[in-house]
Amino acid sequence: MKIIRTIQEMKSEVKRLKREGGSLGFIPTMGALHEGHTSLFQRSADENDYTAASIFVNPLQFGPNEDLDAYPRSEQGDIAAADKHGVDLLFIPSVQEMYPRPMTTVIHVKNGADVLCGKSRPGHFDGVATVVNKLLHIVPADRAYFGRKDIQAAAVLTNMISDYHLDTELVICDTVREASGLAKSSRNVYLSDSEKQEAAHIYKALTRAKALWEKGERPQETVEVVKEHLNNSTTGRIDYVEALPFPSLDPLDTTSNMWVIACAVYFNKARLIDNITVTAVSSYDQTGKKEKSHV
Ligand code: AMP
Repeated sequence: MKIIRTIQEMKSEVKRLKREGGSLGFIPTMGALHEGHTSLFQRSADENDYTAASIFVNPLQFGPNEDLDAYPRSEQGDIAAADKHGVDLLFIPSVQEMYPRPMTTVIHVKNGADVLCGKSRPGHFDGVATVVNKLLHIVPADRAYFGRKDIQAAAVLTNMISDYHLDTELVICDTVREASGLAKSSRNVYLSDSEKQEAAHIYKALTRAKALWEKGERPQETVEVVKEHLNNSTTGRIDYVEALPFPSLDPLDTTSNMWVIACAVYFNKARLIDNITVTAVSSYDQTGKKEKSHV
């Protein structure tokens, strides 16, 4: 595995691999790698001839009061994990390398950024879309792998790739979980033992909601079930619970077959997110009232 820190070298290595033929998979990350990330590396390695990954904690996607400085960093462990899981090129640029001057042109996400995490993190998805656009110009991979856990990022990036006619296929991969059901996250290190046990209820609540959805409950009713379960089983403070069509994330969209029930919960030192996807043949009218029955 090659470790590369400059854009120029990364671009020329990618060009070299492409000249050799074969497909290239790419996984952008912010490091502090865990099994969620390495499952993406492994999937790319299984599906492509070459795999590139990046580690970059992107300042543009952090708000003024967010955890940019405190974001966990573990470069040596990350390098070993990437090497072990099939990464050929590991791109670790500095902030100065990625942003040698303040950006004069940024991407503004017009749709799907004012719901879910976007509500409490204004500008966050502009930062995500801008950095992934930059990265996909440095690494124009055939496929880019993203986790379902960050479903709003997956939605925004699906739309961005389509808007900008990028030649990269976005592949959404299943969320990797602890045995308890808690979604693996770099921020789980901030949970106390008892919070960790409570946080397992996030997935339990979402699973209950999915079961009800499949029995024909309406989006708003499933949302209420998740809220009630979280309030009864955790000390965390709910940021949001929402059910929305994917990838538009537009509550008025009646065409989508896939919906997402998503939530965010604040614990003492960490805000956790999770979601579950559900299928509907039917569409919903604007009040969320079901028009036909579910699959
Ligand atoms: P991050 O380092 O948080 O920016 O995440 C990099 C990529 O890893 C994103 O596409 C995430 O959705 C994905 N990811 C993070 N946690 C998990 C997980 N538990 N399971 C699957 N993918 C994940």
